[in-house]
Formats: sequence, structure tokens, C-alpha cells
Amino acid sequence: MNANLYHLFQSRFPADLDDCWCETEDQHYYSWRDLERGTAKIANLLSSCDLPAGSCIAAQVEKSPEALMLYLATIRAGFVYLPLNTAYRANEMDYFINDAAPAVVVCSPQNFGWVSQLAFKAGTAHVFTLDELRSGKNSGSLLSRAAAQSDTFKTIQKNPDDLAAILYTSGTTGRSKGAMLTQHNLASNIQTLHTYWQWQKGDVLLHALPLFHIHGLFVAAHGALMNGSKMIFLSKFDSTAVIQQLARSSVFMGVPTYYVRLLSDPHFNRECCTKMRLFISGSAPLLSETFHQFTVRTGHTILERYGMSETAMLTSNPYQGVRKAGTVGLPLPDVSVRITNQAGDICKNEEIGDIQVKGPTVFSGYWNMPEKTAEEFTADGYFKTGDVGCFDTDGYLSIVGRSKDLIISGGYNVYPKEIESEIDTLPGVMESAVIGLPHADFGEAVTAVVVMKKDEMLSEEVVINTLKNRIANYKVPKQVYFVAELPRNTMGKVQKNILRKTYTQE
Ligand code: AMP
Repeated sequence: MNANLYHLFQSRFPADLDDCWCETEDQHYYSWRDLERGTAKIANLLSSCDLPAGSCIAAQVEKSPEALMLYLATIRAGFVYLPLNTAYRANEMDYFINDAAPAVVVCSPQNFGWVSQLAFKAGTAHVFTLDELRSGKNSGSLLSRAAAQSDTFKTIQKNPDDLAAILYTSGTTGRSKGAMLTQHNLASNIQTLHTYWQWQKGDVLLHALPLFHIHGLFVAAHGALMNGSKMIFLSKFDSTAVIQQLARSSVFMGVPTYYVRLLSDPHFNRECCTKMRLFISGSAPLLSETFHQFTVRTGHTILERYGMSETAMLTSNPYQGVRKAGTVGLPLPDVSVRITNQAGDICKNEEIGDIQVKGPTVFSGYWNMPEKTAEEFTADGYFKTGDVGCFDTDGYLSIVGRSKDLIISGGYNVYPKEIESEIDTLPGVMESAVIGLPHADFGEAVTAVVVMKKDEMLSEEVVINTLKNRIANYKVPKQVYFVAELPRNTMGKVQKNILRKTYTQE
């Protein structure tokens, strides 16, 4: 049995390879045969480079069907894929390239100068370029070199535990770590999600996420591949384009910001969604308000799920059954999720503690960091996610925050999410982020950063006084800042490290 992930996808291709695999926003069509041939050519090119077995292929490229083919060709040829955020600049790229030591780096032509300099210095053997898709044509040395290669390729034999990809964590504290994911980690996760979300014949995925992150690559693109389904591929999220394409799609996956943006577009309504079957949210917390507004506007209930680069998907609200706002649902089949308190004991329902997980999708360790890997696993093999949360009495998981965001004020634990939820209910508040700042007396002082809705105003005094009547005094923010928007990364996560830095300086 070949455990190569591409082999699994191949077994799921539609019977007619001339069916559409991928359609771009400027109406370029790629068939499944194009996918098979395109990946064969790139796989042949990579194989002709005489790379050591298990070499890593790093890619910092704009989103395009060819970029997805590069990923699939890497897997097909038995190499390890390392996607890199297109926003990374020289010092970040220098770190990743030196840490992962990729044998091949693929970058956009406009970055070739500085990327190749870094890569060759770090010992990379080949640097290719791949341009973004322009009027149906990608340029760059990767495709021009691959063009001369054969369009057939025998997918390389792999074992389940062989490495498929390295995903660097966003590293908001300390060094970014490379999570090593095996063929089996990725295959088992997508097989589970395929069944759990009831992918159906005729489904069409509207793909608006980036390809360098687990969400766009291993949840969205893998889902369509596993179902032999067509993708409508947007180079980036744009609410007008999404609204236009939703009419022809049945599955959409997004980060919460996408849903907020769709709701703020007056053209977004029930009529756009008549063909839609499933809206999925993840990568950051979906506000209950967004969840409810979405149902009122479209008649659809967003399905929220939870996972991370190190573990792929862990929990999901059910496809059939109740999807609860503010929760990330139930543990997926085969995944064991437990919550532990500081003494290491299992928490009761509704008791907040550290989320630990075990299952076939949990990664094999951090690249080049055996000690860090050992620290993050318990003696009985559970991975410490670093997220804090609790189960309700129905077994639904809620995430309260990251353990590193926990505030300890005057010796008491303060969970930011609890305070944020209270602030978000105040009139006129759009959203908030609560952080701890160094404080001489308390150790850390609870501090709120609040975004108001358009034309609405509140004073610091009103926020503080209202909260004093609702929550224990030690949880009430000592200071409240009002801002136009919260700093977020591309996956919609609020960057609390930036807020802490900004307001510590103030
Ligand atoms: P990443 O590795 O970039 O996917 O980030 C994983 C982290 O994102 C998790 O550890 C959580 O802190 C957060 N996350 C992912 N999905 C959700 C969700 N549905 N709700 C809240 N936080 C989430």
C-alpha cells in the first residue's frame, strides 16, 4: 500500500479527467488531467535535480493553481513541502531557510534577487521562480524548466510516518517552530473531515484562503481533492468576488474576518447563498454576534471548527445536530481532547484548563527542536496545545484563549475571553481584546482595547463602571483604550503581542 498522500487523492479523482478541477476568477479552467500532467512535469523536474531523499522544497509564491500543483508535485515526488507566508521579508526568510535547509526554494520572480542570495548562502542547491497567474499564464523558471519534462510520473512510494510537510507556527512569542506533519497525519485528517462534513457529489468549493497556511491548504484544498470536487479559486479574499461566486458554489471556508466583511457588504444576502450547503469558520474565534447575524442574513448556520498547524483539525461542530455559537464543537472521531488543571488533573465540565490532545493527526515533532518537542508532550503522549478552554455539559469545547495570554492579576487568573465577551455586549461595541500589562502592584493589570461600531461612542469610565456591576473587581480593566481596528495577521488572529508592546510603551 502506498501511503503517499497524492496517491490517496489520485484514487479520488473523478472518472472523467476532463472535468474541471480548478477555475480561476479570470475564467481559466484546469481539468483533472491538467492537474495530473502538471504535477508530473514538476515532479519530474524535482526528481531530475538529484536531491537527497526527504529533501525539503520551500515555496514563497503567490496563490495560483500552479502553486497548488507545486505542492502536490512535491508530495508526489516524495519530497517535503514547506510553504512560506508571502508577507515574509528578508530577515524572516533568512531564519526559515537556515532552519529548514531546503534543497530547493521557489519564489516569485520579483524576489529572486534577495531570496536566491539568502538561499545559496544557506546551501540551497536550486532556486526557481513562479510568478502569480496573469491572464492565464504563469511565468518563471519552474514552469519553463518543467515544460520540457515528461507529463507522466509514477507517484513515489511512501510510508505513513514519512514526512509530507513542515509548517512554521506563527511564532508570536519566541522563535517560530517548524511542525513536522507526516503523510498519515494529513491523510487521516482529511478522510475524517470528508466524512464528518458530508462532502457530496457535485460539491463546488469556493477557495478564498491563502495556500501557505493549514486552513487553505490542508483543510480547504485537501477537502476538494478528497471529494474529486471542482474549486473556484480566488487569488485572495474580496467580498464582491466571493458574493459573485457563491451563487455557483456549495462549500466555503473562511477565517472569521471574512464573515465579518461579508456581513458588512449590503449585497450579501440569502439569494447569493441558494446553492450553498456549508459555511465553515476557523483559525480564530468567531464572535457569537457574527454567528447569529449570519444566520439572520442568510439562513445558514456557520460551522465552526478548531485545529492548529501542529495537529490539523481537532474538533468541529456537527454537520447534522446543533452548531453552538462560541464553541468549536465536539472532538473529531479518533481525537482525544482533555482539559487539565494546574495540578494535572482532568477538569470537570465548565471548568477552565489547558487543552491537551492525542490522535492520528498530531504532528511528529518540531523540526530541529527535540527538546522543545519533548516539553510539549505529556508523559502519556498528549500534546499541550497551549490553548485554554472548557467543555460544556454536552461535550462541546469552548476556547478561552492561549495560555500565554492568561493574565495573572494580584495572584488571580483572568481569562481574557470572559472579559472580552462582557465588553462586546456593551452598546455600540464591535469587538475587543483584553491583555495584561506589567503593573507594579498587581503583577499584571487587566487592560482592554476596544473597537466601536461606526458612529458609536463610549467612555472608559462607562466601560469600567458597567463591568464593575457584572464581574469580579479583579477582572475589571484598569484601563480602556479605543482603537479603529485590532491588529490581525493574515489568518485573522488578533496579534495580542503587538497590543502588549504598544500599550506597555504607552
Ligand atoms: P495555526 O497553527 O496558525 O492554525 O493557529 C492555531 C491556533 O489558532 C490554535 O491553537 C487556536 O489558538 C487558534 N484557533 C484555531 N481555530 C480556532 C477557533 N475556531 N476558535 C478559536 N481559536 C482558534
